[in-house]
Amino acid sequence: MKSQQTQNTDNRVIAPGATIGVLGGGQLGRMMALAGRAMGYRFVTLDPTPDAPCSHIADRQIVAEYSDAQAARQLAELSDVITYEFENVSSEVAAMLMEQSYVPQGSELLHTTQHRLREKRAIEAAGVPVAPYAEIKTLSDLEHAIQRFGTPCVLKTAMGGYDGKGQFVIRQPEQAGQAFETLGSGKVELVLEQFIHFHKEISVIAARGTDGSIRTFPPAENIHVNNILHLSIVPARIPQEVAAEAQKLAEAIASSMNAVGLLAVEMFLTPENKLYVNELAPRPHNSGHYTQDACTVSQFEQHIRAVCGLPLPKPTLLTPVVMVNVLGEHMQPLLNWFTNGGERELPEGLRVNLHLYGKEEAKTGRKMGHLNITCDDVETALQWVQQLGVWEA
Ligand code: AMP
Repeated sequence: MKSQQTQNTDNRVIAPGATIGVLGGGQLGRMMALAGRAMGYRFVTLDPTPDAPCSHIADRQIVAEYSDAQAARQLAELSDVITYEFENVSSEVAAMLMEQSYVPQGSELLHTTQHRLREKRAIEAAGVPVAPYAEIKTLSDLEHAIQRFGTPCVLKTAMGGYDGKGQFVIRQPEQAGQAFETLGSGKVELVLEQFIHFHKEISVIAARGTDGSIRTFPPAENIHVNNILHLSIVPARIPQEVAAEAQKLAEAIASSMNAVGLLAVEMFLTPENKLYVNELAPRPHNSGHYTQDACTVSQFEQHIRAVCGLPLPKPTLLTPVVMVNVLGEHMQPLLNWFTNGGERELPEGLRVNLHLYGKEEAKTGRKMGHLNITCDDVETALQWVQQLGVWEA
């Protein structure tokens, strides 16, 4: 059997009342289940950590490793359709689930987006630009590529990196050896990217249905702190033509890759208004959380609709919004503000929507929740975020 494949979806409709199986029980699964529950679906989640955030909402959690074949079979038996909330599901498990259940997203998209080189080739095949890159197997490959791209440039592991992990920014050619060694001396596959001196980072979330219909959400302007998403600002403060172009590029990629469900597309925007795609994620994305309180349909509902074969409404932005992530270190000051009635002091027109993921331990850097701050203009919301003092570095 071919290990990466597309499921024959036959435009199948999974009607409300059915059970959706979610591989992974983190906050993305939790918010999927919250949206799906409102639509009348039932949920079962598989996650190795007991009491996972999604389990608070799902009917049931199977506590097992993702590689546990028996647990995966059990998930298949209990579910009418299966989706996932993270991309590092092994393609073998995804392929096995496809044999035993209905996985409309297939395993091919996972296989592609799990690996930076495969992902970049797929983006290029859709006619969409990526930062110039080179495959690196040896130190000599790296030295040659550094000569070609100049410094700074970024060495990345092809698989497994996230939130800036598995990366080395090479500032001088002399750092080649150190970078190569730090990222495993060629034991894992590597890719070198030219450094893009971007003006902004933006992302577009596309949803593609089993019938090939595609809808995109308005682009978010993303600000990272210590490589973790801090703020998403919508509407992004970019020219309208660039926003439209970004949506077009995301659509082209989702279509060319035959995606089903959500595909988050992260991009760099240069001062000359040129867009390069940096990364894809075949799932709901942190930069799409703003849709919960600011759009006519949330990314989570849209994902459920896509995998269940329901029509995809066109998302419309109802209000400007700033999404701010709540990490472990922000939890106590934020809760103090919230429980002490801080909302009574909010500026006119500003509304704070608190979303917490039900995680017990507030470790530093751990994503505990987010706020969607809706307002008449994003600058007022940004000022408020600063004034509150919770997010001071
Ligand atoms: P990634 O894990 O690829 O999303 O990278 C994490 C962050 O590193 C990005 O959000 C950028 O801020 C930065 N970065 C990654 N690749 C590049 C690049 N080729 N040029 C400039 N900055 C980059």
